[in-house]
Amino acid sequence: MAEINRQIVLDQLPQGKLAPDHFRLVEGPLAAPGDGEVLLRARYISLDAANRAWMQGATYRSALNAGQVMAGGALAEVIESKADHLKPGDLVFADMGWQDFAVLPAKGLSPQPRLEPLTHLLSVYGVAGLTAYFGLLKCGRPRQGETVAVSAAAGSVGLLVGQIARIKGCRVVGIAGGAAKGALLMKDYGFDAVVDYKAGDTRRALRAACPDGIDVYFDNVGGDIFEAALFNMRNHGRIACCGAVSSYDGAAPAHGPRGVPGLIVTRRLTVTGFVVMDFYDEKDAALAELKGWVDSGQLKVAEDVIDGLEHLPSALIGLLAGENIGKRMVKVA
Ligand code: NAP
Repeated sequence: MAEINRQIVLDQLPQGKLAPDHFRLVEGPLAAPGDGEVLLRARYISLDAANRAWMQGATYRSALNAGQVMAGGALAEVIESKADHLKPGDLVFADMGWQDFAVLPAKGLSPQPRLEPLTHLLSVYGVAGLTAYFGLLKCGRPRQGETVAVSAAAGSVGLLVGQIARIKGCRVVGIAGGAAKGALLMKDYGFDAVVDYKAGDTRRALRAACPDGIDVYFDNVGGDIFEAALFNMRNHGRIACCGAVSSYDGAAPAHGPRGVPGLIVTRRLTVTGFVVMDFYDEKDAALAELKGWVDSGQLKVAEDVIDGLEHLPSALIGLLAGENIGKRMVKVA
């Protein structure tokens, strides 16, 4: 076992765009678990747009502070256990931060199946898959034949949302940055149309892509794209608000989207915010359905795995810049 624990510390809170020098790599000794605790080794650390939002203030978790080990979820292996329900070799999901090893209370950690590839535990069978599944089906409530639009469509959540909407018999329109992403989404992932929001007037482009309007909009980005979608909603449409990545990496926008609440009233829209944990009592059934779709080839899983703990800062900066296709994570061990 390595005797050194590498940790990536959030050295300073960013005021503008996140940059490599906001982080610092330090090395220290391993801690030993006490009663009821486990020593964990990170196998894969998840990169999430929300990592950046946590630097702005409290969200569904407390805000990050300068000087602390950067927070992040991981698929981790139990190395040593002083808890009855976990043994060395077990895999768990843990909020262990950007480091090789961590000692954590075992309470709340449960063993995960050793399926292949393990990376699927962080993508389609992890937060991304469940967020896409519950956000679309519980909040968006799409019906066969309807038009579903999704932003950050080539990202980890968006790529699954679009495919699940296809499985449910909907027409699917993605919104993503760059022509190459659009071509890929249509060729490999069954999207019917894709709007490149970097190419100009998104509201007009969405109108062309959705001539009868949008029934369900799955919003990952907020801001101007939310506004463009709002103006294209059909009466009685549903908007599932999943996240607001357009406002994570920098100062808060000076103004909010226009059309709120006017269009929400006149078009009788339902706008639902959600956090994936809200639905965890239905997790097992959701995972079973996701697995069925993956096994039958109806749902393709895209993963973007980067090797090496030291690359976590650049991997997060790159995710915010749209480098990734599908679920980005870093392989640590
Ligand atoms: P991701 O979608 O894999 O990656 C983020 C993507 O956002 C990038 O690839 C980039 O693609 C796009 N993006 C970045 N800046 C943008 C901007 N200004 N305007 C439009 N698009 C932009 O990341 P993720 O971690 O899976 O997160 C996706 C969303 O889900 C986030 O809003 C996150 O907070 C949310 N989320 C919510 C929950 C929940 O429970 N509610 C759970 C998990 C995740 P382009 O090339 O297309 O720009």
